[in-house]
Amino acid sequence: MLKCKQVHEGEVNIMQIAIDGPAGAGKSTLARKIAEKLGILYIDTGAMYRALTWKALNDKVNLKDKKILRELADNTSITLTYDGVLKTYCDGHEVTEVIRSPEVSRWVPVIAADEGVRQVMVSKQQQIARETSVVMDGRDIGLCVLPDADFKFYLTASLEERARRRAKEMVIQGYRVDFEEVKDEIRGRDQSDSQREVGALKVLPDSIIIDTSDLNADEVVDKVLSIIAEKGNAV
Ligand code: C5P
Repeated sequence: MLKCKQVHEGEVNIMQIAIDGPAGAGKSTLARKIAEKLGILYIDTGAMYRALTWKALNDKVNLKDKKILRELADNTSITLTYDGVLKTYCDGHEVTEVIRSPEVSRWVPVIAADEGVRQVMVSKQQQIARETSVVMDGRDIGLCVLPDADFKFYLTASLEERARRRAKEMVIQGYRVDFEEVKDEIRGRDQSDSQREVGALKVLPDSIIIDTSDLNADEVVDKVLSIIAEKGNAV
């Protein structure tokens, strides 16, 4: 069995799997499949930052005003559900599709770089992980949200391949796509997400690095599951 974590008064078997990495590395596909295979909860933390960004843009809030951003984060209810399909709700509105728009993708790194916003988000994510086994994907999961996670995976792939995947996703969603623009958007997000002062994306000393450039989704899942099984047998 995997190690036990102390949760509230009792000893409960809680498994925490952190998956970090840049946009388009395949984190959410992997996290969803791992969650299904292991029967645990999947938390897409990127969807949480996207939902808040969607609301900020909708409400036309001043994105430079830290006080307003903090209040916005404090007063927004974001819910993630799964019943065969992942859905995201912001203050009760379903925002699953709209948070993937180019407009939200463009502004989310600005909101995500705000310290007050991150404090609120990290605390909500930790609250969920205290109660149940989770696989969480994002940028700062191994570093800030689940520093004691049983597994910390760092997924990566070449910029070209990540842009290709993102462009394919956008075409499926019905957007007209310019490949060079998609590549620029991802390059910009990589830079902002890895260079900001709080919760920056980085490879940690205990990260297990997986380059997915030449692997399909099932191959990545098999690799991760075999690493989890190996450690499970060893404990
Ligand atoms: O995972 P996804 O690409 O949907 O995340 C969108 C954005 O949300 C990222 O580019 C990043 O700016 C922000 N994010 C973050 N920390 C997380 C998850 C996402 O800053 N844990």
